[in-house]
Amino acid sequence: MSLQTDVLVIGAGAAGLMTAATAAARGRKVMVIDHAKQAGKKILISGGGRCNFTNLYVEPANYLCSNKHFVKSALAQYTQWDFIDMVMRHGIEYHERDHGQLFCNDSAKEIVAMLLKECDNGQVQIRLRTEIDSVSQSDGGFSVATSIGRIQAESLVVATGGLSMPKLGATPYGYKLAEQFGLKLKPTRAGLVPFTLQPQEKQHFEPLSGISLTTSIAANRGPSFTEQLLITHRGVSGPSVLQASNYRQPGEGVTIDLLPSVDVADALAEARQSNPKRQLQTWLSEHFPARLAEALIAYHGWQNQALGQLNKATLEAIPSAINAWQLKPAGDEGYRTAEVTLGGVDTDELSSKTMECKSVPGLYFVGEVMDVTGWLGGFNFQWAWASGFVAGQNA
Ligand code: FAD
Repeated sequence: MSLQTDVLVIGAGAAGLMTAATAAARGRKVMVIDHAKQAGKKILISGGGRCNFTNLYVEPANYLCSNKHFVKSALAQYTQWDFIDMVMRHGIEYHERDHGQLFCNDSAKEIVAMLLKECDNGQVQIRLRTEIDSVSQSDGGFSVATSIGRIQAESLVVATGGLSMPKLGATPYGYKLAEQFGLKLKPTRAGLVPFTLQPQEKQHFEPLSGISLTTSIAANRGPSFTEQLLITHRGVSGPSVLQASNYRQPGEGVTIDLLPSVDVADALAEARQSNPKRQLQTWLSEHFPARLAEALIAYHGWQNQALGQLNKATLEAIPSAINAWQLKPAGDEGYRTAEVTLGGVDTDELSSKTMECKSVPGLYFVGEVMDVTGWLGGFNFQWAWASGFVAGQNA
């Protein structure tokens, strides 16, 4: 059996569904194939089931890409306001959380239903549980051998996502296809991912699993993120850690300010003056949960003495240990729990205006499969919508 379509999209995730709906709205005949049983699986589990579908403050600076200008065109062609418009047209209620993050009031299912409805309006055919055997170029288009037969398409859009969460159906297929067409790849690694701890830190902090606090964290070459840090039984997680993980290179450390709103050197000097008999642990407990205060003393090997009696070395060590803790993680939790994949198809291979390959007319890459990664906060979906939209306008 041979099927014919104008546009074939591989991957029924965020970017693939957006491309399909957009191309179909232009009157193109569109088919989407996916090996999964369900469309939009990552959308369904995103944002704790409420999908942080975009952000009010989207800027190119919120993205990591080897070419920092690459994201500008697509983000300008399809903005967060365009997606919010679609959400409102479908009657989906949403709310804003910290840092302009927008979430559904009810369920992420509404976002998937909305995309499927948009696809349905354009009579997009979505074929799930479909495996791909091979892709080749033929008759000025593409011939794709699949478990539902051979599909002939004028344009082929690769929307297979990254490597994170293999149990949700993530595969390296998009990268393999890029290589088959001679495209360069940027090395991949897990992003938006918790850190694991070295034994010396694990010993002191693992028993505190569940404690969270506001911290500022910066990797060597990244901005500082002031958000919650959560101590877990495997290491540290929470938004500030996930954000910094995008910028931390393997083997490097991060700088953590455990009390970003307090200049610890000043506060300690003031406390020593006003209440020199107060014990160090009592003073730390005014700023941290008591168990964390105790663990910090044990971890750093400080004496729990009256503040007035602290020796010079301890007095010098405390401010930097709290305001600029140099933590070298053992590593990260990897793709099993990472929200995204850094690296992927080199954007130098693609037109930033259309997502079409410069060297292979008719072949497009959209979403996370390429070397574009957003911060935590709805930026990754906004990239999926924007890149999907521009490809859908051109494929
Ligand atoms: P995906 O959505 O991953 O879609 C890829 C599709 O391709 C899948 O349906 C997959 O089955 C299919 N596929 C893969 N390989 C093959 C193959 N060989 N053959 C056929 N089909 C294949 N981002 C946000 O902005 N906000 C959030 O709230 C948010 N929460 C997240 C929570 C979690 C737990 C995770 C893991 C990610 C979250 N993200 C969030 C990131 C966001 O989900 C991704 O960036 C986004 O889904 C990428 O879209 P995509 O279409 O490129 O890839």
